[in-house]
Amino acid sequence: MSSDVYIIKASREDGQKVLSEKARTLFKAGGFADCFKENDLTAVKVHVGEDGNNTYITAPCIKGLVDELLELRTKPFVTDTTTLYVGRRHNAIDHAVLAAEHGFSLEELGIPFIAPDGLSGTSAEAIPVNGEINKEVFIAHGIARCRSILSVAHFTGHVASGLGATLKTLGMGCASKHGKMQQHAALTLNIGDDCTSCGVCSDYCPADAITLDDVKAHIDQDKCIGCAECMAMCRFGAVGCNWGLETEVMQKSIAEHAQGVLKGKENRAAFFNFVMSVTKECDCFGTPDMPSIVEDIGIVASADPVAVDAAALDLVEDKAGCELGQLLGNNEIDPRCQIVHAERIGVGSRDYQLVEIDQQVKQI
Ligand code: SF4
Ligand code: SF4
Repeated sequence: MSSDVYIIKASREDGQKVLSEKARTLFKAGGFADCFKENDLTAVKVHVGEDGNNTYITAPCIKGLVDELLELRTKPFVTDTTTLYVGRRHNAIDHAVLAAEHGFSLEELGIPFIAPDGLSGTSAEAIPVNGEINKEVFIAHGIARCRSILSVAHFTGHVASGLGATLKTLGMGCASKHGKMQQHAALTLNIGDDCTSCGVCSDYCPADAITLDDVKAHIDQDKCIGCAECMAMCRFGAVGCNWGLETEVMQKSIAEHAQGVLKGKENRAAFFNFVMSVTKECDCFGTPDMPSIVEDIGIVASADPVAVDAAALDLVEDKAGCELGQLLGNNEIDPRCQIVHAERIGVGSRDYQLVEIDQQVKQI
């Protein structure tokens, strides 16, 4: 059976207030109010944007969605888990300060920012899943315990999984540090002969996993957390990875963690993908003004997390006239893997029907 995916055309040029109203229009048109009940503890899952990044989906853009939840008299909180890599989202305190700096706060949104995975990212619940890769997944306590979830994802490329959208926002973005390790454990990186021993990768490695000798760098696999920062930073293309198999394992694990996140929340979740400022790297990169790899498309939303990603990916590839892998310059990653696996294990359906909402939202 096909799932409805609602789309409203939009671009960054609209401005934050109009984007907020467009998201709200989509919420109403899609009938998503039915997913949320009075007094629900409702997670509004966002990515608050790494320090220095300015292409993430900003707080004013989600204000309309938050207001809808408040009108429904739910108890919403805006939330995001801590990262494996060392940065300003590594623990709950630094993360909350960064979230506030980026406007994800009680003052700006009317709801609090709450870290769902505790002070250091280890507060989790083990959720049983009958996956191909995992038999149990480790989901942030505050996500596992909330009653409903409104997921706001920014569609981007991703150096390891190929695609960052709703499934990754759920699977990776709602997992505890343990859960993240489980997903990254599938990747092993290695240094090739093109290495000049320049040391840049070592400077950026958050886990002190890289040592240098006169000839090349070396990765200590026991320390490596699989963040792929070294691969992103090496300008000689010397950091290699067994993409063909390992990205597949990682993407399947992401889908299985997404399944764990949604367990017990059947019909109690809505998924929004902002398909604009589609950057090659995800919002974890603290790089300002990353260029878009495709024109802005709009906002898509569905009650089906698989359908919303399938639709967004099709829209991007149609607009670009080529596959996402080509846009990312890496044809060896098939970003559909996570979508296909999620459907296979029953998270949702790849079969969707696009419903265009053409209501005009006036510039405010
Ligand atoms: S892997 Fe790349 S960044 Fe690291 S030392 Fe070698 S050349 Fe430099
Ligand atoms: S992937 Fe690279 S940068 Fe990340 S922890 Fe491993 S060696 Fe360090």
